[in-house]
Amino acid sequence: AALAGSHPAETALSQFALPGRVALITGGHRGIGLEIALALAEAGANVYCLDLPPTPDSDWLKVQAHAASLAQSQRAQGNLLVAGKLEYVSGDVTDQKKVWDIAEEIAKKEGRLDICVANAGILRSAECLEYPAEEFRKLIDINVSGALFSAQAAGRQMERLGIPGSIILIASMSGSMTNKDQHWVAYNTSKAAVIQMARSLSCELGVKGIRVNSVSPGYIYTQMTRNFLSKNDGLDADWSSQNPLGRLGRPDELRGVVLWLAGDGSTFCTGSDIIVDGGHRAW
Ligand code: NDP
Repeated sequence: AALAGSHPAETALSQFALPGRVALITGGHRGIGLEIALALAEAGANVYCLDLPPTPDSDWLKVQAHAASLAQSQRAQGNLLVAGKLEYVSGDVTDQKKVWDIAEEIAKKEGRLDICVANAGILRSAECLEYPAEEFRKLIDINVSGALFSAQAAGRQMERLGIPGSIILIASMSGSMTNKDQHWVAYNTSKAAVIQMARSLSCELGVKGIRVNSVSPGYIYTQMTRNFLSKNDGLDADWSSQNPLGRLGRPDELRGVVLWLAGDGSTFCTGSDIIVDGGHRAW
């Protein structure tokens, strides 16, 4: 009876559709963040990317144009689901006031804020006994404080507007495992903190109807990993051999899980860490 009159495919797809929703994503100019920003916009959300200023070779401008032309052709075809807009907002996730202000401006302009993806992050390696204090603090500030400030910024607006929003923190499989010879003590520590942050926030914000989850990708081929791989011969093959699928992941392979967490298909999911690692930890 519950299904009477509804088309199953339509019902299933609507769990991933985000028409009229508004999203804030950090670090959306390239890599995983860019794919997630595009996916959210393609699902109908208006997406704001909080990022450092784009470089001339950034894919960002191309992507913004792509979203606009996609929406135009969908409207022309009379599609029910039309891509949302993608807008860039300049900011640094370590600046708490700035991040809060940006979320407030978006919520005032759009009248809502439904989704936040705290994705901005950096990776640096240094031997644990030599790790320079400033480098360590900088990484923790971007990866951990930045994730908290972004979640706070969105959570404050969701609470103010009474929106049952979804906050997604991009963690890493490095938050719960490590690998020999990587010297990623700061990075691994930061991502363990992010997984626990999502759990803690889910308890505090769940009572307000706001969900918080983390996503832990395995090795994904982006600028971040390319920088590391280029300095270590043979590592590409080594990493690929560490999961049963025998390869690194692509940034677009994070789209589905984030769309699911952002939308109505996951309304009873909070405090979870969703692992997308090609089976790395099962191998
Ligand atoms: P990239 O280095 O390709 O992209 C990171 C993005 O974050 C860039 O847009 C960067 O901006 C932005 N950023 C960095 N610092 C700041 C800051 N202070 N304020 C605002 N934006 C900032 O990385 P990935 O796409 O690979 O990684 C995205 C997330 O996924 C990170 O949190 C990473 O730790 C995580 N992850 C990645 C994995 C992988 O294998 N690639 C695996 C597991 C997790 P700019 O372009 O200006 O530098």
